Amino acid sequence: MQPIFLYNSLTRSKEEFKPITPGEVRMYSCGPTVYDFAHIGNLRSYIFADTLKRVLKFNDYSVTHAMNITDVGHLVGDGDEGEDKLEVGAKREGINPLDIAKKYTDQFIEDLKALNIELPDKIKSATETIEVQIVLIKILEDKGFTYKTESAIYFDTTKINDYGKLTGQKRQDMLTGARAEVIVDSDKKNPQDFALWFFLVGRYASHILHWPSPWGEGFPGWHIECSAISRELLGQPFDIHTGGVDHIGTHHTNEIAQSEAAFDLPLANYWLHNEFLLVDGGRMGKSEGNVITLKTVQEKGFSPLDFRYLCLMAHYRSKMNFTWEALEGARNTRLNLVESVGVVPDVIAKDGSENFKHILAAINQDLDTPKALALLHDGKSKSAWWEFEPILQIGLALNTKEPKIPEPVAMLLSERNQARINQDWARSDELRKNIEELGYQVIDTPDGTKLLSES
Ligand code: AMP
Ligand code: ZN
Repeated sequence: MQPIFLYNSLTRSKEEFKPITPGEVRMYSCGPTVYDFAHIGNLRSYIFADTLKRVLKFNDYSVTHAMNITDVGHLVGDGDEGEDKLEVGAKREGINPLDIAKKYTDQFIEDLKALNIELPDKIKSATETIEVQIVLIKILEDKGFTYKTESAIYFDTTKINDYGKLTGQKRQDMLTGARAEVIVDSDKKNPQDFALWFFLVGRYASHILHWPSPWGEGFPGWHIECSAISRELLGQPFDIHTGGVDHIGTHHTNEIAQSEAAFDLPLANYWLHNEFLLVDGGRMGKSEGNVITLKTVQEKGFSPLDFRYLCLMAHYRSKMNFTWEALEGARNTRLNLVESVGVVPDVIAKDGSENFKHILAAINQDLDTPKALALLHDGKSKSAWWEFEPILQIGLALNTKEPKIPEPVAMLLSERNQARINQDWARSDELRKNIEELGYQVIDTPDGTKLLSES
């Protein structure tokens, strides 16, 4: 197979990817803060991580993908200030933070499925892993990396030499993220220090979720959960860590600081960051009143896969400007493709032709999906689209030329076509039985799969 090159934020260069264990990849993605619907910017981040995972699998690596769910401790400002986002959600909807977390975790999983994003192999939430986080904080305390104030246990960033290496800045030059109007703990020694454990005092006196700890009743900071969960699910170091560029300065910098200080080992070897999705050229946010969710996209009559296709048209490290016109363009292109590539072929081989190698080389160059799409369009080869569908996942198996069949049957058929693309024959057989139970016979012919009504 061809080499894969990935841009590593840690070294600020494109490097040939070499996993720790030959043939195997362990990757971690920072999961959502489940206090509201994910917006399409968040979802761009997960489409990017999914594309990366699928590219690695396409190149014959076995991949273990882990993710956290943030359901406590992520404050409104990403640093040590503001209300816990889950409590904000709980107040907004008049329900318990854990019910908010459940509601939006379920919604997030639905969004992933609708976008043909493979679910992570391992998922844990912050509230499920409080013990592991406490153990990690204890290790940091025993090694002298922490101090205590009335409000919190802090990580002392002056105790490590290379704090902030992910940003390429010196510690003193780093912005702290704290805004002027925010109450800051005056006992915090350095602006870059960050909370590992908050106590139920002051602004957090009535924080709803709290647990006992060796330091007193409280709740964990946001960064510690990713250090603890990634190590618990993947070990340390693991191969790849992903997230959006907004996490470089604070969240990922602090994950690295904690994990390396505690265990004298790197946390991850490759750090990959997606750029932001913008709306009409600007930031998407609640205060801007322009938050778009997948539900909005669907309500406007688009398929989630139109959005997936739109994301693939931009390189993950480029800012992507979302407009409804651009989404319409993506839909038209995608639907034309679905129609023109025909029904799913019986055999989808990675054919090793020059064309195939050329497209794969583009994808393996730091996931250059825009180039790969351009090559696929130029190549005019129907089979090449099918060959790369396991990565692109743009819904080619939903052929609009199929005769009108009832929705449940169509869904099962599309799932079966997908299973065949994934060469999951057991699942394909199971789905054939399900379709037959609904009164249709499935026939796989050299021209594709046909359905015969048994009535
Ligand atoms: P959060 O739920 O805020 O923890 O964010 C989930 C993921 O979405 C993180 O990896 C963020 O870096 C990423 N993210 C947030 N906003 C955007 C955006 N506008 N465009 C792309 N990625 C984003
Ligand atoms: Zn994280």
